[in-house]
Amino acid sequence: MKSSNPFIAEAARRIDEAKHAIAFTGAGISAESGIPPFRGDGGIWNKYDPIVLDIRYFISNYEQSWQAIKAIFYDFLCDKHPNRAHETLAAWEKSGQIKNVITQNIDNLHQQAGCTKVIEYHGNAQRLICLDCKREFEVKKWVFDIKAPLCPHCNGKVKPDFIFFGERIPEQAANESLTEVESCDLILLIGASGEVAPANQLPVLAAHNGAYVIEINTEKTHYTQSIVDLPLRGSSASLLPIIADIINNKIYNID
Ligand code: NAD
Ligand code: ZN
Repeated sequence: MKSSNPFIAEAARRIDEAKHAIAFTGAGISAESGIPPFRGDGGIWNKYDPIVLDIRYFISNYEQSWQAIKAIFYDFLCDKHPNRAHETLAAWEKSGQIKNVITQNIDNLHQQAGCTKVIEYHGNAQRLICLDCKREFEVKKWVFDIKAPLCPHCNGKVKPDFIFFGERIPEQAANESLTEVESCDLILLIGASGEVAPANQLPVLAAHNGAYVIEINTEKTHYTQSIVDLPLRGSSASLLPIIADIINNKIYNID
């Protein structure tokens, strides 16, 4: 059988033939689940001041910061569902097509779609962590019913378990990501602008180690001209299922 789009077919063939393919995802993969990226028109930073996510400001303006954080992350995150891009990656994890997802996202949608090998580079909004006793717990409804939650164990201040400005990348996620980008032979960049450091260095390291780089994005990015071997323009929720179909039917031959 033959595929009509040679670039999409080539991406499918490359993914199918890779020995150790990984995905690197950014806010764009969740756009079609109804979660807006931070930047650009309609982005979150047009409406809220990012200072509430500065760790020192957060601690000294606890109630006010929590009010904004609830509005930014929790009022609309709660009822969001994975889209076909998250589902395709979860299916590829099961079939062995990809080994890991490194995500910058904090929305838990890869995990909800069934991915189990997810490196949460920036953490996860579904967990809270106590700044005093360091216990972690899942976000539950009581958190939203009060002005600013306190730790149920020690009454300490709690923060969402994703990284704020001024915080380091969680050590385990940083180490696991490095291992992945050093051992992969293919990296799929999906909905990631490449503007956020140090996460944006991971695809560069993978490319320098010889990995083949496929980019799926509605727009050109910093990566497009520098490290991308095969750019695919379009939305991730439409392109990934098409690639999956091609892999399932082995329709790589182009005339
Ligand atoms: P980003 O750096 O993750 O870039 C978003 C990219 O997605 C852009 O390049 C855009 O062109 C692309 N894009 C938009 N819609 C797309 C679609 N349907 N299909 C494919 N690509 C699409 O974005 P940011 O918003 O600047 O994020 C900054 C940081 O904050 C990142 O770490 C990001 O992961 C995080 N963030 C996370 C979430 C979330 O958890 N869902 C939401 C906003 C921001
Ligand atoms: Zn505590």
